[in-house]
Amino acid sequence: MSLSEFDIIKKYFQAPSLALNKPEVVLGVGDDAALISVPSEDQLAISTDVLVESVHFPIGADPAKIATRALAVNLSDLAAMGARPLCFSLGLVLPEVSEVWLAKFSEGLSELAQRFDIALIGGDLSRGPTTIAIQVQGTVPEGTALRRDSAQIGDAIFVTGSLGDGVIALASMGLPTHLGNSFQLESSPPAAKCKEYFENAYFSPEPKIEFAQACSEFISSAIDVSDGLVGDLSHICNRSGVGARLNIDKLPFSDSARCCVSNANLIRAALYGGDDYQLCVTVAQNKIEDFLRAAQQNETEVSCIGEIVEGDSVSLRTGAGDNWEVEETAYQHFKVSKD
Ligand code: ADP
Ligand code: MG
Repeated sequence: MSLSEFDIIKKYFQAPSLALNKPEVVLGVGDDAALISVPSEDQLAISTDVLVESVHFPIGADPAKIATRALAVNLSDLAAMGARPLCFSLGLVLPEVSEVWLAKFSEGLSELAQRFDIALIGGDLSRGPTTIAIQVQGTVPEGTALRRDSAQIGDAIFVTGSLGDGVIALASMGLPTHLGNSFQLESSPPAAKCKEYFENAYFSPEPKIEFAQACSEFISSAIDVSDGLVGDLSHICNRSGVGARLNIDKLPFSDSARCCVSNANLIRAALYGGDDYQLCVTVAQNKIEDFLRAAQQNETEVSCIGEIVEGDSVSLRTGAGDNWEVEETAYQHFKVSKD
């Protein structure tokens, strides 16, 4: 006989490995609502991301990897606010009950939850097409959250890690991307080591929680790169009432990306690809030195890719100072794709 809804919750989502016994969680899974105490000097940062099968992860993907990706992209939003993870809820929609699937999913989930000390405090289950809706809650000392609306003209623009790996990963898994048919890997299939690197980048993006905490005081505004650098940076521009000038010759790429993708497509992947979950931050000129030192201490690579200027949009230049056209926009769910 298949498990009831309550058996599933008890067996897979009420385990100590997910509840984590945090002092702020007064009451977790099992009542009509969870009860949380938030320290009075903190603000609560709340964010939700929904992942739908075949839109956000391929059909038939490993449940542990789906869980990791679902929680990691949510944690990335907390990182972008400079918040410390506290707890999360999980809305899970599945077409059928598979204990094998649930066991792998909850194991993947608890591994990442423990690593980032974020407690599962509730959720909901329903039948339907596989969908995972997570809401994360984090704390940030009052007045210190990293926001999109506070970039200043003259600030330098930095990005963590490398860009473009998310969309290159989709192509490496043989899946269509919103960059169209012209976006292909040079060598198909890619070398095994590159394929593994991309899969890991896609399913296990590293939320920049510690980096954001370590560098918070030197950052004027921040966003995580989920829809492509140009689109995401445009949000900073819109909210801050500024423009941004990017130097495309400074965009950072992984060795695997360089190995597998043409130069033109590398730039498209970074600018318009998405799914990278790096942080893009702005830093006032007089704080750059401290910022770089803090990033280095945190062992996070950062690249200076441009600056905040007067205006209201993102513009692109080459290192030689030539203008480079902004071609496309970021990933949008309700946009009809090209070719
Ligand atoms: P209600 O009917 O009052 O909404 P449910 O019966 O749906 O409550 O859930 C019972 C308890 O189990 C609640 O505390 C709820 O938060 C928790 N829960 C339900 N689904 C999940 C899930 N997928 N993960 C974690 N907790 C869950
Ligand atoms: Mg319910």
